[in-house]
Amino acid sequence: MILPIYTYGQPVLRKQAQDIALDSLDNGQSSMVNGSKDLQRDLQCTSDPLDEGQRRLEHEKASRANGQSSMVNGSKDLQRDLQCTSDPLDEGQRRLEHEKASRANGQSSMVNGQCSTVNDLKQLIADMFETMYKSDGVGLAAPQIGKAIRLVVVTLDPLKEDFPEYAGFNRAYINPHILEFDDSETETLEEGCLSLPGIHEPVKRPKRIRMAWVDEELKQHDEWIDGYLARVLQHEVDHLEGKVFTDRIAPLRKQLVKSKLSSLQRGKVNCHYRVKPMR
Ligand SMILES: [Zn+2]
Repeated sequence: MILPIYTYGQPVLRKQAQDIALDSLDNGQSSMVNGSKDLQRDLQCTSDPLDEGQRRLEHEKASRANGQSSMVNGSKDLQRDLQCTSDPLDEGQRRLEHEKASRANGQSSMVNGQCSTVNDLKQLIADMFETMYKSDGVGLAAPQIGKAIRLVVVTLDPLKEDFPEYAGFNRAYINPHILEFDDSETETLEEGCLSLPGIHEPVKRPKRIRMAWVDEELKQHDEWIDGYLARVLQHEVDHLEGKVFTDRIAPLRKQLVKSKLSSLQRGKVNCHYRVKPMR
């Protein structure tokens, strides 16, 4: 999400809007391509958690062919890795908990000094913060950079002039889920989106939400959130659900932005950061 905040939708437009994503991988200015080969590989967009499992199996197979194995503590971890989960979130959560438990026991699931899942996640969070700062955003969701996981970063520091309490506010939200919307009070504010450059529309949203998430220290939260943060988080969590703010604007407004969305999909984009249409 970008300032000033704004947001209104229609299925065909939604599809077009989703097809726009930040060009993070091909952009040489992004630190996301400066990492290891594995990180770059990890950043590739996969819509299917099975792909990740497949990759791991192939890696293990190759390792064994070389007389090595990525197994940790015998077959237990391999067995864990082979577990089938339908939701990549559950998988991420399970891995985080496993790593946490391992470290509490003075162990780590790191193999051969390579990045563990937790380190990869921290690197991804750092990269997302950098991408968000460079594009002057106040919020960025992992699907916007082609990563099919529930991860959101938010900075409210740019608002500190008007809201001193937001000075230094930079947070990552791992596996966020909005549990409740307080519909008793709504507010209509303009929203913009890094994935939809040049489009700003008023969006009506509840002023208060209850959200569950895991923070960067892997601590679980379940809290009521209000104010501007609630607005930004609703916008970002929408990305995780395959929605963009134009899905929430009035039908008439939607018609008005239709041509702009079509232009974006054709690659006609004018903004200071690079984007690319997703196929
Ligand atoms: Zn957005």
